Amino acid sequence: MKNPSENTSANVSTNTCGKCGFCLAVCPVYSVLLDEKASPRARIQLIKVFSEGKISSSPLLKELISKCLMCGSCTANCPSEVDHYSQFMKMRSEMIKDHAEPIEIRGLIYLLAREQRLKMAASLARVGQGILPKAFAEKYQLGNIALSKLPDLNSRTFRSQVKKETAPSGKERGTVLYFTGCATNHVFEQTGHATLKLLTHMGYRVIIPAKQACCSIPLLFHGAEKQARENILANIACFDGEGAEAIIVDCPTCGSTLKNEYSPVLERAGKRSDSAQRISRKIVDIMSFVHDRLELLSIDRNKADAAVSVTYHAPCHLKNVFTPSARVLQQIKAIQYLPAEDSQECCGGGGTFFYEYPEVAAVLAGRKINNAQKSGAELWLTDCPVCRINLAGQQRDGKHLGLCHPAEFIATLLE
Ligand code: SF4
Ligand code: SF4
Repeated sequence: MKNPSENTSANVSTNTCGKCGFCLAVCPVYSVLLDEKASPRARIQLIKVFSEGKISSSPLLKELISKCLMCGSCTANCPSEVDHYSQFMKMRSEMIKDHAEPIEIRGLIYLLAREQRLKMAASLARVGQGILPKAFAEKYQLGNIALSKLPDLNSRTFRSQVKKETAPSGKERGTVLYFTGCATNHVFEQTGHATLKLLTHMGYRVIIPAKQACCSIPLLFHGAEKQARENILANIACFDGEGAEAIIVDCPTCGSTLKNEYSPVLERAGKRSDSAQRISRKIVDIMSFVHDRLELLSIDRNKADAAVSVTYHAPCHLKNVFTPSARVLQQIKAIQYLPAEDSQECCGGGGTFFYEYPEVAAVLAGRKINNAQKSGAELWLTDCPVCRINLAGQQRDGKHLGLCHPAEFIATLLE
């Protein structure tokens, strides 16, 4: 099955749609709304008539294009090779030319466009988390998620907690660069420490470039290509170089963006993309890296026996290609892995989708939560920070399952 966000010249046309409806059957948004207007097929037709000049930009058109999780399932399952993902991405940047995003989304774009701004905002938010009255935090919500259920921000950025270069713990096998992403740097420091532990345990020297920026997918999802380009160029300056055999990512969406979006964004702006292509070839998800080197992991059998049972949610940007975490969990026999029946379905997080369309996100997350609880597992693993926030924050009744990155769980089992 093809990667939903791979751009190829052969499948970018909207003209090849045979209107078969296969994409409707796999679209999570359509599964909730059951409305043709909210289907991938309809979006493709709207983009086609818009590009032919038969309809003009309008707030309704913008909403119909935006009410999409960018999960890529339609692209991955289309027999006519329509590349919805690229078409939607380009259309989003068309839409904001005439219809600006709401102020809170523009604020987010402003922060993510500069690491220093994000750092300052995270420091202020951290202070806010400490002084916010409990009753207020329980009452007010981000989408469906009460502020009290949002994760605590890191007390310091992850990158300021670790050395720029960390030596392997045993025999040296190579060097990798680590793209930490905004979520690990500002929210989930434990994912960063676990990734570092796994890599050094397997014999890799890890270099964390200090000046890396946001991967830019939140900017691209909201059509802010100009701001995204600055981050992209900053990341290329950090990561394009000789010596490292891989650029490790711990977030599948960051990985997909670095791998598949940088070249087309630069090319659309008339810039050279050879350095973006070099980077693309080196991007590897941490769990994929671990999967390919499982023999290098020394799992402590006693720790594994004492560990809680786990289930797993596959983020959209991993599931259509290859889900390395599930394979690792299956292959380490000591782990008690209890798959949920819908582990491959989208959770409705979708970047800021859970905030913009909470009524759809609630149904999708509710289904997942129900099935994860039915699996009988005590801990829920997922690689994506937005899925993690969405699935932790939307649990209300019954047993509350804690969530963490598979790397964090595996790192606790090492000898
Ligand atoms: S699956 Fe492809 S060909 Fe079929 S309706 Fe959807 S976009 Fe058109
Ligand atoms: S990307 Fe996902 S949510 Fe969007 S139209 Fe395609 S299947 Fe539906």
